[in-house]
Amino acid sequence: MTIRSHIRTRLTLWYVAIFGLLFAAYICTACFLEYWQLKQQLYHAEIQDMETVQGLLHFTPDGQVSLHEEYFNRPESRFLLDRLLEVLDLNGRVLFRNRRLDGNTLGNRGLPGEGVNGFSPRSLRLADGTPVLVVSHVHVLEQTTVLIRLAYSTEPLRLQTLHFLLLLTLVAPIALIAAGFAGYRFAIKVLDPLEQMARLTERITARRLNERIPVKNPDDELGHMALVLNGLLERLQQAFEKLQRFTSDVSHELRTPLAAIRSVGEVGLQEERDAEKYRDIIGSMLEEVAKLTTMIDTLLTIAHAESGAIQLRKTTFALMDLVHEAVAVVGVLAEDKKQTISVQGDQGAIVIADRNFLRMALVNLLDNAVKYSPSGSNIEITLRRDGAESGPGHFVELAIRDQGPGIPENAQQRVFDRFYRLDEARSRDSGGFGLGLPIAKWAVEVHGGSISVKTASPTGAIFCIKLPSREAARD
Ligand code: ADP
Repeated sequence: MTIRSHIRTRLTLWYVAIFGLLFAAYICTACFLEYWQLKQQLYHAEIQDMETVQGLLHFTPDGQVSLHEEYFNRPESRFLLDRLLEVLDLNGRVLFRNRRLDGNTLGNRGLPGEGVNGFSPRSLRLADGTPVLVVSHVHVLEQTTVLIRLAYSTEPLRLQTLHFLLLLTLVAPIALIAAGFAGYRFAIKVLDPLEQMARLTERITARRLNERIPVKNPDDELGHMALVLNGLLERLQQAFEKLQRFTSDVSHELRTPLAAIRSVGEVGLQEERDAEKYRDIIGSMLEEVAKLTTMIDTLLTIAHAESGAIQLRKTTFALMDLVHEAVAVVGVLAEDKKQTISVQGDQGAIVIADRNFLRMALVNLLDNAVKYSPSGSNIEITLRRDGAESGPGHFVELAIRDQGPGIPENAQQRVFDRFYRLDEARSRDSGGFGLGLPIAKWAVEVHGGSISVKTASPTGAIFCIKLPSREAARD
């Protein structure tokens, strides 16, 4: 049995069980009400009968009470067949007891207050076990006050109620079968949209991630579920496309250095050369291999960063110190190009961050500034706090300005995409794969900051990093 039919069966069983319980409760209540109503009818009939009986009682010469014989039992209710009658004087002496009582008694002496105010009802069992409903009434018969007790058996009431119960119980299996059938149909109807959804989802494969589940009513639960699934598909599609782009980008990037290695090797093998020449060939092959290794290392760092596997080791430090460290790293390259790097700004700008990752971001930006700026130019680094006072929403802003060609406005967003290069040939010659800025962006954003680039005047690029200041990071 499949899971689907499990749910269907379970729903039906639950439905039948709840229906059964409710039906049982209904039967009990109905029987109770039926019995209560019959008893009420009996009580009223007994009162009427009592009034009739009172007119027919009379004292006999020996001081006993008797019932006029001309009275015939004309019961208004079919239960009023076996009247039991007892008359006592106030001392509890029995003045009359009818034959039907057959030696039984409806109680001995009068109870306190019995029959004084109107007709007091009381249920009791006779000595032979017959359940009866007694109505007592105090009556003045020929100047003597007597207590008249009149009773009828409630056994017929019990039988009638049992009969009623039996009838309802006989209907129960039919009702339960009908409920089960209706419940099963209902479960199928409820689960049908889910089945449809499952069938549609089954059809969606990696190649058809653009398909969506139709949303009939976005406000009901199933519509909501379809929306959630569609959201999931959307995210999957985006991730899948990103992965595909990444794979094709990586293959594309690997192809060029590999082709270079291969062609250098092939040219080297074409003719006999001296050792010096072979050393040169191996040297340039190793250079390409080194570039490949760097690229793969960088890609691994990105993959790690994106999977969230990197744990930040945050410390509190002055950003200016880190700037000086990064400048020291690229200093040699700048010196080669006779460039100067000037640093100015707020020594008190403190951040809470992972020093290594922030240093990596700064080095990447400075390395680009050196790489893409002409020889003899100046690179300016300024550091300032956004607002003198500390507090939430306050940032530390670091700007790196160079005198290179700058980045055109239409590319200012895209330079942070992986493998994006403005001038592919020039960038690759200088060892770039278009991965430096994406890594810098990740390192800044993972600290709650942002990175952007704008055009400097008259020429050059200004890369801006905004990081939450220590005070803002604490909140
Ligand atoms: P790369 O390793 O190729 O430099 P990046 O991701 O660091 O990769 O930079 C992406 C592209 O952005 C570069 O190829 C270059 O075209 C451009 N770029 C980055 N920094 C600068 C800069 N300071 N001046 C001009 N162009 C830049």
